[in-house]
Amino acid sequence: MKLTMVGTGYVGLVTGVCFANTGNEVVCLDVDPAKIERLSRGESPIYEPGLTELMERNIAAGRLTFTLDKTRAYRDAEMIFICVGTPSDERGHTNLGYIQQAADDIASVLTTLGPGQKPKVIVVKSTVPVGATLMVKDRIRKVVGPEIPFEVADNPEFLKEGDAINDFNRPDRVVVGVESERVGELFRDLYEPFVRQGNPIFIMDVPSAEMVKYASNNFLATKISFINEMANLCEAYGANINRVREGMCSDRRIGSHFLYPGLGYGGSCFPKDTLACIMMGDLSGLPTQLSRAVHEVNQRQRELFFQKIAGHFGGERGLAGRTLALWGLAFKPRTDDIREAPALTLAARALSCSAKVRGYDPVAMDNVRKEAPDIELIDEMYACARGADALVISTDWDEFKSPDFGRLAEALKSKVIFDGRNLYQRSKLGEMGFTYYSVGRAPVKP
Ligand code: NAD
Repeated sequence: MKLTMVGTGYVGLVTGVCFANTGNEVVCLDVDPAKIERLSRGESPIYEPGLTELMERNIAAGRLTFTLDKTRAYRDAEMIFICVGTPSDERGHTNLGYIQQAADDIASVLTTLGPGQKPKVIVVKSTVPVGATLMVKDRIRKVVGPEIPFEVADNPEFLKEGDAINDFNRPDRVVVGVESERVGELFRDLYEPFVRQGNPIFIMDVPSAEMVKYASNNFLATKISFINEMANLCEAYGANINRVREGMCSDRRIGSHFLYPGLGYGGSCFPKDTLACIMMGDLSGLPTQLSRAVHEVNQRQRELFFQKIAGHFGGERGLAGRTLALWGLAFKPRTDDIREAPALTLAARALSCSAKVRGYDPVAMDNVRKEAPDIELIDEMYACARGADALVISTDWDEFKSPDFGRLAEALKSKVIFDGRNLYQRSKLGEMGFTYYSVGRAPVKP
């Protein structure tokens, strides 16, 4: 099939590459010339394990191309997947500006095509509030008039950055919202190679498909805020969240996924999708009290951890002139995405108290250089810790899980670790003379 991806970010690029890999002819469109230039050279602008290899193979086979040219991208496509960003605005409402722009661009190319052709399917793959896909339809229809045929669909994406290729190629489920059987069948054909193991394709109405995505992300965010709230209670009452977690998660009704205490969720999805549910609740007159609490618990979690750091130094004023070394800047491991990363919140709070902040991350440092230039970036983890008053672990990259503690002790000015991901055993750190703070467990002090 001839497909066009609108936007070559984490979703558009992975989707385009994976659809090309099953034999489709895919054009990826973006408005960012620097991205298209890199992509055309076979270079991925994002870090995603396995992506570059798959991209190179499909470019070489002639099935995958990149362009800035909207007419070329939209004219021949049978299905157009809108994969642009839907960030929160300053009120926490969803900014649909990129979606609207994409709809307008599509409409202006459709008007040049004339009536007698096969209807294109315009698919919203971005995460959008309920009603946005039909808004896209109305917006395009107003420009092209009644004669030019097209249909719309919603196809929310569930990939996880860091595992995106695997998630796309073997999805737990595919969800599609359609307005006709014909479009449902097109989706079945398109996704059939991805569900060979029997995972389901759910074809439903458009509003329900839009809502599945929010319900899923809000549920996952709720689990994270829940375990963090329990972790805080554990700390207050002398319990150990790791033991509590084991005891609780062995109940099959509860399970263990997404129940890890830490610094709370970040990234480009959970924070904004929780806010979008709050927005939808407020606009409908049925406030989503749980989503609001989940969001507030998540914001508070970062601040509580920062207060732990400040408390060690006698309060926020005691941080002035201190140096903190941050291990991990991405919002989670295996990605270079720093959107809403807890590390950046901690860094900003420390900098506002006149501390110095150094950071190391295996892949996210280029993005941090652009977005948070006040963080001094050091390209090796022990060098980052050298001379620092404390080490702060904010992302659970594998390489931080079993460090050389002797080397770390030598590098740090004082042997203090704030572990926002509970990576280490308290007893071991205590024996080695570290002061060790984590989440939901009593601190260890020599
Ligand atoms: P992104 O910011 O990484 O990429 C968006 C891209 O769209 C950018 O390259 C931008 O230049 C381009 N763009 C903007 N307007 C355009 C236009 N008019 N024409 C062509 N290109 C345009 O975003 P993302 O992380 O890929 O997320 C996209 C959507 O998918 C969001 O709604 C998000 O919530 C959803 N989503 C994201 C993930 C994830 O893990 N990142 C997972 C599932 C769903």
